[in-house]
Amino acid sequence: MNCIFCKIIAGEIPSTILGANDEAIAIADLNPMAPTHVLVMPRTHAANFAAYLRERPEGLGALFALAAEIGERCGDGYRFVVNTGSDGGQTVEHLHVHVLGGRAMQWPPG
Ligand code: AMP
Ligand code: ZN
Repeated sequence: MNCIFCKIIAGEIPSTILGANDEAIAIADLNPMAPTHVLVMPRTHAANFAAYLRERPEGLGALFALAAEIGERCGDGYRFVVNTGSDGGQTVEHLHVHVLGGRAMQWPPG
């Protein structure tokens, strides 16, 4: 499968790993949109949130535990974003939670 995040997880493409547990890894986003911009992704491939829930529902808690661990490092709050599909702005079809922090976020989002 030609998935860039699977290649990162396999160590075939370099990345900056900022955290990990048995279910998921956290890497620095290559094109950060905030002082903290981390991608938390399951180690097993799932194209999006619905597929992950179907294929690996037991992983959900650990995935979000890692995302929360990264977010709590920000101190003053943070935001989770899961872009899904073309209208959702998803560009990499391997589920990932963006953890954004280190500045005040805008609302509503664009
Ligand atoms: P999305 O648009 O929600 O699918 O998010 C994909 C994210 O992956 C974007 O924020 C990209 O900057 C990021 N990205 C793409 N390739 C890499 C990479 N090799 N290492 C780290 N982040 C990446
Ligand atoms: Zn993948």
